[in-house]
Amino acid sequence: MATRVRQASKKCTVIGGSGFLGQHLVEHLLERGYAVNVFDIRKGFENNKVQFFLGDLCCKEDLLPSLQGVMLVFHCASPAPSSNNRDLFYKVNYLGTKAVIEACKEAGVQKLVLTSSASVVFEGTDIKNGTEDLPYAKKPIDYYTETKILQEKEVLSANDPERNFFTVAIRPHGIFGPRDPQMVPILVQAAKSGKMKFIIGDGKNLVDFTFVENVVHGHILAAEQLQTDSPLCGKAFHITNDEPIPFWEFMSCILTGLGYDAPKYHIPYWLAYYLAFLLSLVLLLLSPFITVKPTFTPMRVALAGTYHYYSCQQAKKHMGYKPLVSLHEAVAKTIESYPHLRCSV
Ligand code: NAD
Repeated sequence: MATRVRQASKKCTVIGGSGFLGQHLVEHLLERGYAVNVFDIRKGFENNKVQFFLGDLCCKEDLLPSLQGVMLVFHCASPAPSSNNRDLFYKVNYLGTKAVIEACKEAGVQKLVLTSSASVVFEGTDIKNGTEDLPYAKKPIDYYTETKILQEKEVLSANDPERNFFTVAIRPHGIFGPRDPQMVPILVQAAKSGKMKFIIGDGKNLVDFTFVENVVHGHILAAEQLQTDSPLCGKAFHITNDEPIPFWEFMSCILTGLGYDAPKYHIPYWLAYYLAFLLSLVLLLLSPFITVKPTFTPMRVALAGTYHYYSCQQAKKHMGYKPLVSLHEAVAKTIESYPHLRCSV
């Protein structure tokens, strides 16, 4: 009997397990002796220790088979922020998360760990050492963030000790590391097309970039400590590398590490912001005739030119969190993992 209970508590499902963070999470869970199901809309990798369930998380019937006999669920699925598709974000991040909660309750899951985002409190202006007490952004920077807020609220309010159902949200910021299809490849692409010459603002603005293995560590600690009367129940926690770095210094480290030039010309923040704003107005006026998805947007200018770093004091206090990999080591590991993106001239 005791063995069966232990086995059930070591069985988990990772929703979004085919994604960048999801795959790293799955690998670490397997290393820690968990039996792992992956639920995703696509199969992102091969591993015969993992049981895959393909489906759409918006559909409870799709989800249920992946949750049978499972006590612990990680929900780290989301459409890519760059898709900028309002209806899709609303459907997957908000309505889909409601379906996840219902399915978990129906299947008798006890713990739900959501991957939220520190951006739920960011409005495009400076945040220095922000704590979890900051209110949700009244004007979120994009649709993605708008629905991450709805999603997080839904998960945290679903915490229900009477039904033995416990929830927690992890808020990482700027996840990076090997096999990320977004940050490094997009940065390299921008450098190759000559778009990485300018530093927006004075280049001193500190930002959190968090190594994927530290984010995974935060998730597993949260999952293992989430239980009756735990201070984690129904709460959100920042998980960072605890080493904020100037945004442009981080970009430069990755670029020079891969053999590209670092950006060196400064453009005042206000000028970049208003140019991006003007561009978005022009594209709005032209939208009945042409559709262009600009990369130079006021939101991207704000992300690159403001301070936004967060305290992970609460995670240290309540989960015993401490980053496992330093930023220096994490950058080196990341650069090493992209040999195919090195500058060849
Ligand atoms: P990712 O795009 O690599 O992975 C997301 C996964 O979700 C994909 O495998 C995708 O197929 C799956 N998915 C999307 N829609 C689905 C659906 N309807 N049904 C089932 N599966 C679906 O993203 P990631 O970078 O690994 O991010 C993971 C989580 O972390 C997301 O919730 C994201 O909001 C959050 N987050 C990411 C960052 C970052 O810097 N990458 C920062 C903060 C928070």
